[in-house]
Amino acid sequence: MPPIDHPTPNEKYDIVYVGGGSGGSAGSRRAALYGAKVAIIEESGKLGGTCVNVGCVPKKIMWHAADIADKIRHAAEGYHFDLPAGGPKFTWKTFKPQRDAYIKWLNGIYDKNINNEGVTYHDGHAKLTSASSIQITRGDGTDYTINADHIVLATGGRPTIPSDDKIPGASLGVDSDGFFELEDQPRRVAVVGAGYIAVELAGVLHTLGSETHIVIRQDNVLRTFDPALQEVLTPWMEKTGINVHRHSNVVKVEGARGQGLTLHLDSGKTLEVDTLIWAIGRRANTDNLGLEDVGVELDKTGSVVVDEYQATNVKNVWSIGDVQGKALLTPVAIAAGRRLSNRLFGPEKFKDDKLSYENIPTVVFSHPPIGTVGLTEPQARAKYGDDAVKIYKSNFRALYFSMVPAEHKEPTMFKLIVVGPEERVVGVHTIGQGSDELLQGFAVAVKMGATKQDFDDTVAIHPTSAEELVTLR
Ligand code: FAD
Ligand code: NDP
Repeated sequence: MPPIDHPTPNEKYDIVYVGGGSGGSAGSRRAALYGAKVAIIEESGKLGGTCVNVGCVPKKIMWHAADIADKIRHAAEGYHFDLPAGGPKFTWKTFKPQRDAYIKWLNGIYDKNINNEGVTYHDGHAKLTSASSIQITRGDGTDYTINADHIVLATGGRPTIPSDDKIPGASLGVDSDGFFELEDQPRRVAVVGAGYIAVELAGVLHTLGSETHIVIRQDNVLRTFDPALQEVLTPWMEKTGINVHRHSNVVKVEGARGQGLTLHLDSGKTLEVDTLIWAIGRRANTDNLGLEDVGVELDKTGSVVVDEYQATNVKNVWSIGDVQGKALLTPVAIAAGRRLSNRLFGPEKFKDDKLSYENIPTVVFSHPPIGTVGLTEPQARAKYGDDAVKIYKSNFRALYFSMVPAEHKEPTMFKLIVVGPEERVVGVHTIGQGSDELLQGFAVAVKMGATKQDFDDTVAIHPTSAEELVTLR
């Protein structure tokens, strides 16, 4: 259902979620389920936020397309399938509208879901005028105010791009939002950054056939991940043909969008590309929200500071999801919103409900994918001391790759980090085919405090890659 047309000014709600993304949608629906009077405010004209519109969902669809491209190569070169002369061809130009249509359909599902739950949807830009009132400015410039006992800041974040003052020509590049707007596949592309987004977008573009460069400041991608993952993925990206420019920064960009760009690196190298994508991190949407006037504390990166109950320093103003700067993941935003609403409006059993930010599993949709939960080896050593930490590790090739030529045989690496005499598993780090799907169950085990012996006592499933995790020596 669309947003309300004729809102009643000064209407009072039990709770208002500011932002209709993953966290706001989930949290508002949960509060309404308990009978609270709930509103959600969204300024973009569509619900679902980053994940649905310019994040997880369109990204994963592109990853599937890339994965199919890989599988087609394996089919032809290893599994004796005859392919049409000239090989199959991916047509980005016609695929993108189909992807966009699916996203639009999802936006409608979000509308329907909040409506079914009885959440009132306000369309416009929200700005707090006090700890219990919000001014909403609509697209036509008119505004009105609503009031609430509780306000939840769930405004997410946005990609950052260097200023043209700092890097002349930087604005000739696009960010991850711009990637999803590309109408056609770039023939040559440079991605700057070494985090989740840079790795995922570079992987998709390369696998679909673009000449791909990735410009990173250090030796490896995914610097905050376990070193063993970095050391498998970075050389594999290079081996498959991605041009990895290590210890490099872009210092100048020349050219014109759509007509070719020249990137100047501080190493003296130049790169000629059609598209430049900046993937150098995100910033919380805390500007123009009225937070300074209300006195909500922000950290030095501009994210909202919250305690373990998602409470800001201002009574009854809460914050969840990307805007609070910790664990920028959709299921985290959803879980934090639901638990907050459980606690505020749910039954007695939820009176202390809150999200634990420990042992959050996460996947990087690289080629091959990464699945990881718990502490990295350096974190485990720092926390428990070298003597208490033991590592179990295996490098192998999945059976699937036995039939394909050497250049397509993706690596698999599984690593368990255990601590103490009881060998409690505090970290599971996997890269290789299927790591994205296998991790969820192992994350349950880690969350439950499983030991290496528990892993060993679990009968393996054969033949799979996952079985290696219960047979490590
Ligand atoms: P958002 O989803 O960003 O929602 C915030 C909403 O608030 C937006 O709709 C915005 O328009 C609105 N808003 C902002 N300011 C105002 C205002 N003043 N008034 C009214 N409305 C306002 N996470 C995963 O778990 N898995 C993935 O595979 C994954 N892939 C990703 C890929 C990319 C390219 C990106 C960018 C992110 C990805 N993420 C992924 C992260 C995930 O998208 C975010 O963690 C998640 O969307 C955060 O949800 P949120 O509710 O905090 O914010
Ligand atoms: P990340 O924080 O993951 O990575 C940012 C990267 O940018 C770092 O690798 C950093 O490199 C690099 N960087 C920072 N500044 C510069 C600079 N000036 N020049 C060059 N490189 C720079 O951010 P992302 O934007 O990739 O993703 C944001 C968040 O979104 C992620 O943290 C994740 O939580 C979420 N996300 C989740 C996904 C998933 O679940 N699969 C997918 C995509 C996003 P360095 O290592 O050198 O410091």
